[in-house]
Amino acid sequence: MRIHITYTGGTIGMVESPHGLVPGADMRGWLRRLLDDAHMDPSLISFTELSPLIDSSNATPDNWQTMIDDLRAHRDEADAFVVLHGTDTMSYSSAALSYALTDFGKPVVFTGAQHPLGKIESDAAANVAGALNAAMQSVGRFHGVGLFFGQHLFAGNRVSKSSSWAFEGFSSPSSEPLARTGTPWHWYAGIAAADGCGWRDPKPYGRHDVAVIDMAPGITAARLEAMLTPRPEAAILRAYGVGDVPSDEPGLTDVIADALRDGVPVVIASQCQQAEVLLGHYEVSDAIARAGAIGSGDMTLEATYAKVMFLLSQGVDAADFGRWMSTSIAGEISPHSL
Ligand code: ASP
Repeated sequence: MRIHITYTGGTIGMVESPHGLVPGADMRGWLRRLLDDAHMDPSLISFTELSPLIDSSNATPDNWQTMIDDLRAHRDEADAFVVLHGTDTMSYSSAALSYALTDFGKPVVFTGAQHPLGKIESDAAANVAGALNAAMQSVGRFHGVGLFFGQHLFAGNRVSKSSSWAFEGFSSPSSEPLARTGTPWHWYAGIAAADGCGWRDPKPYGRHDVAVIDMAPGITAARLEAMLTPRPEAAILRAYGVGDVPSDEPGLTDVIADALRDGVPVVIASQCQQAEVLLGHYEVSDAIARAGAIGSGDMTLEATYAKVMFLLSQGVDAADFGRWMSTSIAGEISPHSL
């Protein structure tokens, strides 16, 4: 089986510098030794090192598009794909690529590491070996974008970084993982549920002005208005629980309604990692539900943000935004939450 590896940066390939960790390890040489030890034929592996390699905290939608372009450029040369990425924004990238690659037809598996390669305590070798294995085993089973970390393969648009230090650094709070490692690996049922309606001929990702705003006890209408001025192209409000906002705060729900009236799609997400946004379930969210706010269902913040960026890049206008946010494009939202 032929595999293409796209290396984007991240701790996995970092070295010490006077100001902290930066990309700079010999990833190509290290991979060659890893593959040799695993008796994998190096001629079946192709490798791209993106330039510049980045700490994924610096990733933007332009970097998502660079990854997509590299995968598409090598599509016919490989059966499965692995993307090496920093952990900080890996779940944003994996969600973003899931929307743009619904027509790709081959598995793409992201991974990274909490420690740089070559360190005795590093999880790099285990994660890369796991991601290669996951990518190969996915052929014929799962052709979407996944993320392998620790001992699990997750759907790339259902996963969040949940620990800054644990070797099980990611979790998928609202859906089962796709698989877990072991002898043998176990593949969970619901893989078919990862399918969505797809998106034909996606336009490239571009950068759009999307505000992500947290509710917090005591937030005022004036503060929220300031955060929505000038108007962004879309806003994601991270509310409480099932999408609840402090409706007794004078003028606060009016600020949200005004933004909607100005044509800004306002998506209400939750601060709960495991959430099902149900606007209007409590009276506190009734006014914003009636004003046209869009609930994010059980999507992760990363899947929600990447989807908003995807829809803006496709030129979807405010009138169609709600429908698309609640439609599963690539398995990012559960059918019961539609
Ligand atoms: N700051 C690093 C990055 O996201 C963290 C990591 O890779 O674990 O690139």
